[in-house]
Amino acid sequence: MLMKRKISILGSTGSIGRQALEVIEKLEDKFEIIALTAGHNTDLLNKQIQKFKPKYAYADDKTKITGAKYRTLDEICSDNQNDIILVAVSGKIGLKPTITAINNGIDIALANKETLVMAGDIVMGLAKEKGVNIIPVDSEHCAIHQCIKDISQVDKLIITASGGPFLKKTFEEMRNATVEQALSHPRWNMGKKITVDSATLMNKGLEVIEAHHLFNMDYDNIEVVIHPQSIVHSAIEYVDGSVVAQLGLPSMHIPIQYALTYPERYSGIKSKSFRFSEIARLDFEEPDLGKFKAVKIAYECGRQGGSAPVCMNAANETAVFEFLNSQIKLVDIINTVEKMIESHSLIKKPTLNEIFDIDNEVRIKTREILNRIN
Ligand code: MG
Repeated sequence: MLMKRKISILGSTGSIGRQALEVIEKLEDKFEIIALTAGHNTDLLNKQIQKFKPKYAYADDKTKITGAKYRTLDEICSDNQNDIILVAVSGKIGLKPTITAINNGIDIALANKETLVMAGDIVMGLAKEKGVNIIPVDSEHCAIHQCIKDISQVDKLIITASGGPFLKKTFEEMRNATVEQALSHPRWNMGKKITVDSATLMNKGLEVIEAHHLFNMDYDNIEVVIHPQSIVHSAIEYVDGSVVAQLGLPSMHIPIQYALTYPERYSGIKSKSFRFSEIARLDFEEPDLGKFKAVKIAYECGRQGGSAPVCMNAANETAVFEFLNSQIKLVDIINTVEKMIESHSLIKKPTLNEIFDIDNEVRIKTREILNRIN
């Protein structure tokens, strides 16, 4: 039986944060919320504060918080009352608070893949040193986490990808896609940044790097396969050729709940029982790396290691933001990432400060390139 688990949620007004609160609402006797944090959506944050009664809250504008005491992200992540912190913010802002929480011995439910893409070696090394569990929330990594009994007997990780809205479209159609088309993901309802990443398949690239760090697996032993139905959430192959996969209807509630209650399981928010006969078919195909070159770029950056994924991530995040503001075409995102990587001078073992410096520089340079496009 799980003791009442004390939790803080970074990014409680985002897609993952809101779904996490739905999970917690169903399991209210299992959780006590210490803090909720948001950026600018203080209307929703205040509603959440009223309902879930955290002691503390953070928002960019602290004067707009009502019903909880203001604390900085750093103070929240240093608060040892927390048993676990769900990092559900999007983008590079997840890295610093995650490091603070690990330094304070607090377990992490990680929904922010940029943290591991930017500083996977540092974050995983620190977690090991501090005896902190990093439990993945990303559905693919959650699936792998559920499949693995003994990592030393695993030969290969198989990460599935739905293929996004442009899987069956021509390159021309994809190249000229509108923001609206890029945001109409066929299977998953997610935040905007990750939905655009899913359209270019950069999301899968980021997930390959995330998997490399989480499971300490060589890039040669991580495979991506397109699986449009999103029923098989990922799989592993053991040394004897036996494949273990995790299946379920596509819902982020399940991986979120698994991460928050691990190693226990509860029925919680489960709405419907799984029936193979209702699924009818499961399709798999190789990813088209010519059309979706983000996957190839991510493997290359991952293999280079050091600052290469930092550069890739910063260029991508900047370009996605410009695309969402209708300033550039979808195809410009990955082309720009590619350009930035070509001109990047690799640092093999960057410190955290170097990582933040490189991240800033790449963002500035990327914006310069993008300004010339539009
Ligand atoms: Mg995912």
